[in-house]
Amino acid sequence: MSVDLLHTPIEYLKGVGPKRGELLRKDAAVSTYYDMLTYYPFRHVDRSRFLPIGEINSENVYLQIHGKVTEVQLIGQGRSSRLVVTIRDASGSIDLIWFQGISWVKDKFTMGSEWVVFGKPSLFNGRYNISHPETETVAEFIAQPADPLHPIYNSSEKMKLNGLSTRSLSKIMRTLISQLKGVIPETLSNDIISEFKFMGREEALMNIHFPTDTETLEKARARLKFDELFFIQVRLLRYKINRSQKIRGNVFSRVGELFNTFYKENLPFELTNAQKRVIREIRADLGAGKQMNRLLQGDVGSGKTLVALMCMLIALDNGYQACLMAPTEILANQHYATISRFLQGMNITVDLLTGSTKKARRKEIHPMLQSGDLHIIIGTHALIEDAVKFNKLGLVVVDEQHRFGVAQRAKMWSKSEVPPHVLVMTATPIPRTLAMTVYGDLDLSVIDELPPGRKAIKTYHFYEAGHEKVYNFMRQQIDAGRQIYVVYPLIEESEMLDLKNLQDGFDHLKQVFPAPKYTLSMVHGRMKADEKDAEMNRFKNGETQIMVATTVIEVGVDVPNASVMVIENAERFGLSQLHQLRGRVGRGADQSHCLLMTGFNLSADGRTRIETMVRTTDGFEISDVDLKLRGPGDLEGTRQSGILDLKLADIVRDEQMLRAARNVAQKLLDDDPHLAKAENQRILRYMNYLSTKKSEWAMIS
Ligand code: ADP
Ligand code: MG
Repeated sequence: MSVDLLHTPIEYLKGVGPKRGELLRKDAAVSTYYDMLTYYPFRHVDRSRFLPIGEINSENVYLQIHGKVTEVQLIGQGRSSRLVVTIRDASGSIDLIWFQGISWVKDKFTMGSEWVVFGKPSLFNGRYNISHPETETVAEFIAQPADPLHPIYNSSEKMKLNGLSTRSLSKIMRTLISQLKGVIPETLSNDIISEFKFMGREEALMNIHFPTDTETLEKARARLKFDELFFIQVRLLRYKINRSQKIRGNVFSRVGELFNTFYKENLPFELTNAQKRVIREIRADLGAGKQMNRLLQGDVGSGKTLVALMCMLIALDNGYQACLMAPTEILANQHYATISRFLQGMNITVDLLTGSTKKARRKEIHPMLQSGDLHIIIGTHALIEDAVKFNKLGLVVVDEQHRFGVAQRAKMWSKSEVPPHVLVMTATPIPRTLAMTVYGDLDLSVIDELPPGRKAIKTYHFYEAGHEKVYNFMRQQIDAGRQIYVVYPLIEESEMLDLKNLQDGFDHLKQVFPAPKYTLSMVHGRMKADEKDAEMNRFKNGETQIMVATTVIEVGVDVPNASVMVIENAERFGLSQLHQLRGRVGRGADQSHCLLMTGFNLSADGRTRIETMVRTTDGFEISDVDLKLRGPGDLEGTRQSGILDLKLADIVRDEQMLRAARNVAQKLLDDDPHLAKAENQRILRYMNYLSTKKSEWAMIS
């Protein structure tokens, strides 16, 4: 097997050369023979058929026609000139247009010459034309090997002008494939291949370019998709295995007095079954002697804080300290208040450390942490600072992790000789398929049940014209003793515009809800932390009835008496954001409402988002729709996961295959964790190849 041949720089291939090689590198990310081989066509066209020109009736679909040149015109001058070549068959005529490279093509089209034309038509002035088509004489066409299904490759304008049109690419590909026949290594074990009746890797790579029929093409695609998904899974799972074997974890063997006392005496309600199950899962991890890295997923309001607290108590019971990091001060304060309340009467010390903790206070906290007198510390990223040292840090809980970077989490590790257990909590529902890829190296616990007695939030959609109705509804609710959030969108390009938007809204609402009968609060990201807290607290304490805010209240804020969420310009928010915002209400016993205000003109996606919110409160369903709308590229953590490198597979459409790939990878590594067995050497070799290709591969800790 000649791996060297596969890694030959692409310029050495016949028909490429240095100039095109450079272009391929730049415009197509192809630098080697092997890269070229995996530059897959995005579709195939049946080239045995010609469409009569008179039957062209749609734009943007590749088609093949043939006809005779009846007119050649050079229109305009200099930079704005274009060449128009009219060709005709028995059914009609069409214009072929060139804006670039005119001098190069114009002499080819002599009157009456016969051409095969391939390209995408577009409609202009009621007539179809094809700009920059691919053309060849009938003689050339006949001489060319006849592909039953002809591959179509992406090709930039620049590539097209430099002899790298899709047709030239297919010729280059043919040359390449004839050279590589017999040297393309298999990447899967025979067992896996026969289990799924897969095509061999080499056969698949050849057939994805030049299939004999559509069935063969589908088989080739399926095989290559599986490889993409499978090797991501093997990589994630191997990473997890390495970590659990190399890194010793603190063993929390005891569930002791503090945990039990809390459970019997302080817990104000019965745990939900989901909470119980998750605590069991975490406990098993904590006692197992390896370092825990677990993602705790639970919809807004599902009671993650309590789970975190009980896990911290297990740490304390085993003589360790615990910390809880939140992404904002508001949230850290709130956790501090909640947890202090939960722990009342118990002999546990809890403190708060955030950016606005005064120096004098820090000077008291730091030594207490270092001596171990302080058991639980709650805070923001201020906890990461080097000055913060622990006596025996056993457990780090990270709330709403999407606001914390990988590097920041890594820093928490360094605060203890044996790395602490890490529990990452998120309410942003992650579609299951994505969780398998993005967080494939973390263990996953899911709270899929809300505490009893919660009434599902009712969600309504109003156009701007419905504002009066909304205000009336707000008055009724305030009269009934409820509190209300009104949220304005954040337009990232312009913070000033945001503030103006918010301030205008606030001023307007003050007129609609005049003092002294009504009182309003406002918070936004530009306020100082203490001002923000003061406003937040006024609202929390019931001094104000309406909280006007930007998305700073998106995460975690808990005011059970607030039962109405009004979202202005709701079409500007993403689905997961809308879901988070809506989760701020529905926390008390009262029926809660979410009112989505939008303009009249909604984009198709905007409408889907609003309709989804109105239809369901199920975070997983919402996240699935979100993934379908946005694709994985926008979602947190996708860069590290490798799913952006997928060429053929799609984690939404190919969910079944993704699951299969994960199962196979898991089974493989259960059986042969180090890929030491002879039959798995192909897998190992390809893994190694992939990792040399991407040494920057970063993982989520
Ligand atoms: P989230 O998962 O969104 O962080 P929280 O931990 O803030 O949710 O919990 C939401 C609310 O539900 C809190 O007021 C909490 O005290 C309450 N809660 C948590 N668990 C239960 C339970 N088992 N029964 C009743 N209420 C609960
Ligand atoms: Mg929370």
